[in-house]
Amino acid sequence: DLLVVGSANADLVIGLERRPGPGETVLGSDMVIHPGGKGANQAAAAARLGARTTLLARVGADAYGRMLAEAQRAAGADPAGLLMGAADAPGTVDSSGTGGAAEGEDAPTGVALITVDAAGDNSIVVSPGANARLTPDDVAAARDLFEAAAVVSLQLEIPLETVAAAARSAAEHGARVVLNPSPPARLPQDVLALCDPLVLNEHEARLLLADSQSPDSEPGQSPESDPGEWAGALLALGPRSVVVTLGAEGALVAGPGVGTAADSGTADGSGTVRVPSPRVRAVDTTGAGDAFTGALGWRLGRGDGLVEAVRYAVRVGALAVTRPGAQESYPSAADVEAADQE
Ligand code: ADP
Repeated sequence: DLLVVGSANADLVIGLERRPGPGETVLGSDMVIHPGGKGANQAAAAARLGARTTLLARVGADAYGRMLAEAQRAAGADPAGLLMGAADAPGTVDSSGTGGAAEGEDAPTGVALITVDAAGDNSIVVSPGANARLTPDDVAAARDLFEAAAVVSLQLEIPLETVAAAARSAAEHGARVVLNPSPPARLPQDVLALCDPLVLNEHEARLLLADSQSPDSEPGQSPESDPGEWAGALLALGPRSVVVTLGAEGALVAGPGVGTAADSGTADGSGTVRVPSPRVRAVDTTGAGDAFTGALGWRLGRGDGLVEAVRYAVRVGALAVTRPGAQESYPSAADVEAADQE
C-alpha cells in the first residue's frame, strides 16, 4: 500500500488581464475551484493508476474539506486518513465561524488563491489552514496506516516536525520513504538519510544545492551548473537515492546500483542515469510533479527498481501535462498503456 502524508488544499483560480496594484480593484473571470495540495494530488495520482492508497492529511469541517474527501474517493483512494475539523475534536464543525483559528481550534481547509494573468503567469497565495494543524500526534495515531504501507510519500506543505515524525514512523515500520522537499526547507539529517529517493524538480534542486554551499566556497565550483551533475551532488547531501525531474527533459536518477543494470538507459558511469520523457504537447503542467511522484511511490511499492519506476513515472507525468488541471488530468493505468501504443 502507498501512504501519502501531506497537504490538501482547495485551489481557487481566477483569470485576469493584469494584477491589481495596492488599493486597486480589477475584475476577473469566473472563479474555478479544484482539489489540490501536493499530498492530495500525489494520492489521487497513485489511486487513479490503481494503487491502494491512503492520504493522511487534515482539512476543515467545511465545503472545501468535503470536496477534497470526495475527490480522493473519486480517484479510488481510501479517505479514512483524511482528518476533518479540530485536532482535539475530529469531525466536529466549527460553529464560531470567526476564522483565524489558533492551536486546538478548528481551522478551515487550506486554500491556494491563484490568479493567472493574460501572459499565463501565476501568482499564488497559500493559506495553510488545517494543513498547519497536522501534528506528530496525528502521525502516532495513524500507526495502522504506517504498518500497512510499503511506501510512505512525503512533501513539505505540512509542519516539518510532522514530516519528520512520519519519516521516522515509516522507517520503524519498514516502509520506504519517498520525499519531495517542496516548498524547499532544511531537513533534519536523519530524515534526509531515510529518503529513498529524494524527488525534486530543477528549481528545488538548485535551492537545496545553493543552501548546502558554504558561504565562502569559490564561485564557479558550484555543482549546480550542470544538470548532469546535480543528482550526484544531491546524493552527497545524504539521501539514499535522488530523482531530479527536468520537465520535458524527463528525469535524472542517482543512487547505489543505478546505472549498472544493462537496461537502465544512458549511464554516465557515475551512478547517474537520465530517463527521457515521452514527447507530448503540453497544455497545463500544473501538478505534473505530483503525478510523477505518486506514480513513482506506487511502482516502488510494487517492487520495481528505481530506474524502472522512474521510467513509468515519466510516462504518467507526460500524460498529466496533456490535459488541463491537476487531479483532473491524471491518467489511469489503461491510459498509460494506450499512450504507449501511439
Ligand atoms: P514540477 O511539476 O514539480 O515542476 P517537472 O516540471 O519536472 O516537475 O515535471 C515532472 C515530470 O512531468 C517530468 O519528469 C516529466 O515526466 C513530466 N513532464 C513535465 N512537463 C513535461 C513536458 N512539457 N513534456 C513531457 N513531460 C513533461
